Formats: sequence, C-alpha cells, structure tokens
Amino acid sequence: MAAGLAADLTRLVSDPARVFTAPQILDRLSHDFYWYSPILRSKLVSKVADIAVQPRDTQELIAVLQYAGCREVPVTVRGAGTGNYGQCVPLEGGILLDLSLMDKLEEITPDGVAVCQPGLRLGALETAARAQGWELRMYPSTLVKASVGGFLAGGSGGIGSVAHGGLRDFDTVRGFEVVTMEEEPRVMMHEGEAVHEILHAWGTNGVLSRIWFALTPAVEWTQITAAFPSYEEAFTFAESIACDSFWTKRLVTVFEWPIPSFFTPVKQIVREGKTLVLLMIATDQLEPLRRALATAGGEETFSGAFEGPRTQPLLSDYTWNHTTLWAMKSNPTYTYLQCGFSAADCRKQFQLLRERYGDEILFHIEFMKNGTGEVIPGAIPVVRFTTEERLNDMIAFCRSIGVFVANPHVNCLEDAGRFRADNIQLRAKQRYDPRGLLNPGKMISFQKERAAK
Ligand SMILES: Cc1cc2nc3c(=O)[nH]c(=O)nc-3n(C[C@H](O)[C@H](O)[C@H](O)COP(=O)(O)OP(=O)(O)OC[C@H]3O[C@@H](n4cnc5c(N)ncnc54)[C@H](O)[C@@H]3O)c2cc1C
Repeated sequence: MAAGLAADLTRLVSDPARVFTAPQILDRLSHDFYWYSPILRSKLVSKVADIAVQPRDTQELIAVLQYAGCREVPVTVRGAGTGNYGQCVPLEGGILLDLSLMDKLEEITPDGVAVCQPGLRLGALETAARAQGWELRMYPSTLVKASVGGFLAGGSGGIGSVAHGGLRDFDTVRGFEVVTMEEEPRVMMHEGEAVHEILHAWGTNGVLSRIWFALTPAVEWTQITAAFPSYEEAFTFAESIACDSFWTKRLVTVFEWPIPSFFTPVKQIVREGKTLVLLMIATDQLEPLRRALATAGGEETFSGAFEGPRTQPLLSDYTWNHTTLWAMKSNPTYTYLQCGFSAADCRKQFQLLRERYGDEILFHIEFMKNGTGEVIPGAIPVVRFTTEERLNDMIAFCRSIGVFVANPHVNCLEDAGRFRADNIQLRAKQRYDPRGLLNPGKMISFQKERAAK
C-alpha cells in the first residue's frame, strides 16, 4: 500500500522529501505522549501510519485530503505530537498529516489577534507577541514545542488560565478556517459560536488551516516560589492570590510534598518535607506579594524575571502536565488524573480522597477560571498506579463526591470528558467527514450512529 501511496503523494507536494515511508520516522510521527497512561501504553504502542506527508500550504493540504478521500484512506493530523491521550496516534493506519511546516505567523492585528497557520509553535508566537506588546492569554506547559493548531484541537488551557479561562472561554479563539474531508474538500470559515464545532475535537471533523487567536496585553512577570509547612497553609495562601482580582497573575500552582522532591534540576527552590507554591505574578506587585507571603507563614525560595520561553529556569516546566513527567521520571509507577475541584467544597473533597486513598493520590493544584468567571482549584493530581480497576475506582469516587474528571486514560473524545453534550462536534463530523476518514476511532458516537444505519 505504502509504495503506491508514496508515488501518488509525491506528486501532490512540491518536494518529495516531504513524504516519509521510513519505519522509524513513521513510528515517531505516529506517537505522542500516550505513554503517560499505563492503560493507553499497551493499546497504542503498535499503532502506526502507513505514510506521512508534510504539506507546506493550504493548497497542498487540500490536495492530500482530496486524494485520501477519493481512495478512502484514513488521515490523522499531527501538530507537534505532545498530546497525552494518543490523540494523534492513527488507529487505522493511513496517512499521517504533519502540519509542522505550515507555521507562518501572518500578522498580529492592532487589536491583538494573532493570525497564523496551525503549525506555528506557541513559544514562537509568545516571543513574537511580546515583541509587539502582547502575549498569549494561555498556553500549555509544552509552550516551546506545541503548535497553535494542536493546542486548539487537543488542548484545553494552562498557564494564564487563572486569569483568562480555558480555550473554550471568553472568545479567545476568534475563528479559523477548516478544510473538510468531503468529496470536494471545502475551506470553511468558523467564527463565534461555530468554533465550538471543531475546538477540542482531536482533528476528527476537519483540519484547521488558518487561525485567529486573541492575545492579551503583555505584562512584566516574576516567577516566584514559596515553601509552606503544610498543604493546608499553602493551599489557603494560593487560593487567596488566585481568587482575589487585586493580583495580576498568570500561574498559581500548589505541589503537595513529596511532589517537589521530583524536581531535581531546581533543587534550590525546594524545601524538604514542605509544600511548594509556584506563582507568576506581575513584577510591580512583588513587594505586596512578599508581605502577604510572610503573613501566611511561607518562605520565599526563589524569584526571578520571566523573559519569555527561553527563561532559565523556566518554572512552568514543572507545572500543569509537566509535573506528571517529573513524577514519572522519579518513579515510573506514577500516573495522573485531570480534575476540577469545587471552589466551595474542595477542602472536604481533599479530605475524603485522602481518607480513602492515602498517599496513592498527591495533590497538584492549578487554579483556573471557568467559563462563568469563577476561579476554581483545577488539579492534575499525581496518582500511584496499581491496576486499571483501582484507577477507575478513584475516578468514580472523585465523580461521586463532585470532583470533575477528564479521564486521560481513554482514547476517545466522549470518555475523555470534554465532548460537547450538545453533540455539535458530532454533527460537524457528519457534515464535514461523512465517510469517517479523519482520525478514525476517536469519536465513537459517530461510529455507533454509522453502525446503527
Ligand atoms: C509534559 C506535557 C505537558 C502538557 N501540558 C498541557 C497543558 O498545560 N495544557 C493543555 O491543554 N495540554 C497540555 N498537554 C497536552 C499537549 O501538550 C497540548 O494540548 C498541546 O497544545 C498539543 O499541541 P500539539 O501541537 O503537540 O498537538 P498534537 O499532539 O500534535 O495534536 C493534538 C490533537 O489535535 C489534532 N490536531 C493537530 N493539529 C490539528 C489541526 N491543524 N487541525 C485539526 N486537528 C489538529 C491532532 O490530530 C490531535 O488529535 C501537555 C502534554 C505534555 C506531554
């Protein structure tokens, strides 16, 4: 199959060097960070595309989709491959569409909207935006590598979400062009509410080819860490910063001990046995913050200016889902969950989890604003893995006590917890990919509907 495909695809892109058939390259491009999950690890390790192609522009992208559609060959899109759920792992082979070369920043408009191609790296966008007085509203901790298109299609939020919410909120994603997988692919503009048909749909119902992404005025930030004797004291301090609109902040994170002990490259910011709070705070608020910290009984362990993605140490490299990576490096039996605690009841929820699971669950909190403007303790707890049953028990227990869980141990949109209840992503797939060729197997409600026909 691959030989025929290779000959055909080579005719569709201007440079044959952008068509890949070497097994090692295909293996690398076919995988992301799915191995974070001990459950997905064995399920996805052997899944691999038959061929990969790197279009340079929308015309080449359309040509590849049209070709694949005519021959009913599956197509799985890849940005930078930093997703955690095996989102860009092709379950049924076919073509791996690597968009990393479609990485142009066209412009930043005077009112702060970046217009770009999907393969543009978020770190490059942050650097370009800061040079013009703007910055990203939010970004994943994979800032340097991850692409704008992959973030919109596979991510949810990150550093900055404490002030600006997630990708679905506050009109951050202004619009995009989507190439469809119809017999004659179309380029469809989506704006306003229509963006939600495609956002976080894992490339199952269209390919983002041009994006309008709203920025926010740049702030001079300081990274600061503080150690607290107990989790309760640290959490209460962090909560007071996160929830008070006086503070201009980009990141409010709490790591229960022993999580800080996993951060071996930045040992100097850690204090043995203590919970660590990590903040990005406006530099002009540093002195009042230090006073608040002293009052709360915290010990400052580090502070330094944030100077863009190349800052050293870049402390966001220890937050969001990077925390799990450091935990797994320290002990491979660790994995994680993605949770949303209740702002009002979180202390009770922490207590119930502690009573039932002891140190099988370690609290790692990332404060974030939700779509209604309330700041809540989001969390990516580190979890010691024993069996799938035990992990599912923990997820079910979380849900039973009102903790939201987006399950990162499944490989389909619906079970991962952020599928739209109004089914608009499914309806878009029926329109734009009626033969089910885009990232097949990841939107199971589409397959169930097809099977029932
Ligand atoms: C260490 C670590 C930390 C992380 N931290 C965060 C975090 O803080 N917040 C967060 O939200 N996520 C986080 N993630 C997940 C991931 O890094 C981000 O979601 C990232 O933005 C994905 O971008 P990518 O370019 O790597 O996408 P990919 O992994 O390449 O793709 C993600 C999904 O989007 C689809 N896709 C890619 N490009 C397009 C396109 N142009 N059109 C349609 N579909 C497309 C793919 O098919 C796939 O389903 C983390 C992951 C790791 C490994």
